[in-house]
Amino acid sequence: LSTITPQTCTDFIPEANFYKVEAILRPWRVPQVSSAMLKMGIRGVTISDVRGFGAQGGLTERQAGSEFSEDKFVAKVKMEIVVSKDQVEAVIEKIIEEARTGEIGDGKIFVLPVADVIRVRTGERGEKAERMMGGRADMSSAQSTA
Ligand code: ATP
Ligand code: GLN
Repeated sequence: LSTITPQTCTDFIPEANFYKVEAILRPWRVPQVSSAMLKMGIRGVTISDVRGFGAQGGLTERQAGSEFSEDKFVAKVKMEIVVSKDQVEAVIEKIIEEARTGEIGDGKIFVLPVADVIRVRTGERGEKAERMMGGRADMSSAQSTA
């Protein structure tokens, strides 16, 4: 069975053609996540070094019991991936598969509608701009015509 199966679309609200999957991850898991993305044909990815607190960091803060607590922000990586609607679920699933340890601090994923995509080099917009040569859409169309 192929790993490149077309995913069913969840009805995200608000409705859009593209969504940004924004994942806050443990930095040491990022190479694993990004190589899995490449393998599934997700070739456009942006990351930034960020710091935050959730349950991790936040817990220690409460234990410290101080109103003016020290800096408890934990180093994380924010990974931003804009994909077509039908690719969102597959990307989310893969990120979870590669990033999850089961311990507090594994991160969180946000899904945001994207109004448009513009490729600066060509001025293309929408689907033309979002498509990557040899990307996931190309992989699955090659698969279905094979
Ligand atoms: P070109 O064909 O002109 O090279 P491109 O679509 O491949 O256009 P780049 O100019 O290579 O885009 O992309 C610049 C940067 O934009 C990338 O390094 C990456 O950070 C970000 N990027 C591109 N596509 C996406 C995407 N779909 N999701 C998130 N980030 C992206
Ligand atoms: N949806 C694009 C494609 O299939 C890939 C998007 C991305 O790499 N972030 O070509």
